Amino acid sequence: MAANGDTNGVSIGEPHKTFDTILVLDFGSQYSHLITRRLRELNVYSEMLPCTQKLADLTWKPKGIILSGGPYSVYSSDAPHADPAVFELGVPILGICYGLQEIAWSLDNKNVVSGEKREYGHATVKIQKHSGKEAHIDRLFQDLGEDLEVWMSHGDKLSQLPAGFEPVASTPNAPFAGIASTDRPLFGIQFHPEVTHTPKGKQLLSNFAVTICGARQDWTMEKFVDKEIERIRAMVGPKGQVIGAVSGGVDSTVAAKLMKEAIGDRFHAVLVDNGVLRLDEAKTVKKTLTEHLGINLTVIDSTDLFLGRLKGVSDPERKRKIIGNTFIEVFQDTAKSIAEAAKDSPKAGEIEFLLQGTLYPDVIESISFKGPSATIKTHHNVGGLLENMHLKLIEPLRELFKDEVRALGTNLGIPEELVWRHPFPGPGLAIRIIGEINEEQLRIAREADKIFIDEIVAAGLYRKISQAFAAVFPDTAKAVGVMGDKRVHGKVVTLRAVETTDFMTADWYPFEFDFLKRVSRRIVNEVDGACRVTYDITSKPPGTIEME
Ligand code: GLN
Repeated sequence: MAANGDTNGVSIGEPHKTFDTILVLDFGSQYSHLITRRLRELNVYSEMLPCTQKLADLTWKPKGIILSGGPYSVYSSDAPHADPAVFELGVPILGICYGLQEIAWSLDNKNVVSGEKREYGHATVKIQKHSGKEAHIDRLFQDLGEDLEVWMSHGDKLSQLPAGFEPVASTPNAPFAGIASTDRPLFGIQFHPEVTHTPKGKQLLSNFAVTICGARQDWTMEKFVDKEIERIRAMVGPKGQVIGAVSGGVDSTVAAKLMKEAIGDRFHAVLVDNGVLRLDEAKTVKKTLTEHLGINLTVIDSTDLFLGRLKGVSDPERKRKIIGNTFIEVFQDTAKSIAEAAKDSPKAGEIEFLLQGTLYPDVIESISFKGPSATIKTHHNVGGLLENMHLKLIEPLRELFKDEVRALGTNLGIPEELVWRHPFPGPGLAIRIIGEINEEQLRIAREADKIFIDEIVAAGLYRKISQAFAAVFPDTAKAVGVMGDKRVHGKVVTLRAVETTDFMTADWYPFEFDFLKRVSRRIVNEVDGACRVTYDITSKPPGTIEME
């Protein structure tokens, strides 16, 4: 059985085999993945591959190719270049920034030079119109008006047009802000249509993908789900079984539900209660997954084991390691006993696969072009697990961005509040309790967090905020309060709520004072042992999203 690709000549999935696909070749720009995202938002399927991709190794044919931006200068000796076969494939090509320079460079080696000054930021390009037999080159800028607001970020420029090209857009600074070949479907733009600073950039990408390449706009989660279920069935076979950990988060729940739809009870979900989950988390997850979603779930309560190993540990890195390693240990033992029991089932064969909720950004991260010195991250933990148990990986969300996973979840009938749930870290409350963890700290963290999140939901702010939680200061940092005329020495709870789009940078959320007042009053009144509440007003950077 092929792990991916064709089975008996029947296409079993990989979206690029069933959906019209625009290939983005990545030259290392920080915006490359956004090109793929914007196209998907237009319901055009798109995939990114490193700029060094050899076309001969590609088992599918793209409808069009986009060459991304990149930090190099095309004329320097160590600059990356596209496989010359890209230009011979006969499909339309759009070069963005470095991509434009790469087109010019590969057609005529002398036409790219270092500009007198860098151009960085907003610019307005003038769109040029052509008539007669050149009118077709205007299609890239069709319906965009005469002046277009764009975002520029470059230092090099074309010194002259490559032969057979005409300008289609210009600025006083960049006479060749947009170029097109009159006899081949080759286009180049010096600005970045994929960033939101180019407000009509998506229309331009649509002009390229839909109008020029003729790509169908049928990339929807309704379509994806059927194809993916077929793919999983073909991969696992009629008797194969799959095991996977679930956490109650969006990704693992969506992946698990997809497996359930594809192979029913031959998918075994495992939830490990590590003792540092939120209030009633294991119970709630069990209820949702089994009762609402019909997933075959085993819950393992390993609270004592985890908390025993965490006793007296205050270093955050050690906490993370202990939790990670103990998790692998428990999961492996559980998987072994499920595998043993599964062997006796007359309807099913052995457990052959491990489910992983890998998303497309993780894939992009591992393949994106970072130059010769970059090393690729490995997933040590899973690697060990796969080897020890002789399992193969199955990653049904590998081609999806987070917003697509959410749409898929909704499509699969997963409750809205779960689909939109904030991320929760693997080490759980252990890194929201600063210093040593004990039962009282855990109770305070859980109860305070519940109040905070409930109030955020009640105020209608849950979706606006990207991540929110309550944390507790260590036992050695108690504060004094007066409660019911009695002096108390109690715990300090700190609240954190951030807004972010990519979790790389984040801003703390500017709550109304009344909201903070209400939450603070409730925590101090309702959570035994808590006597102070603070709100964390640190952005990332320099802070991190979690406390430890
Ligand atoms: N390094 C090239 C330049 O400075 C391309 C920059 C880019 O692609 N954003 O012009």
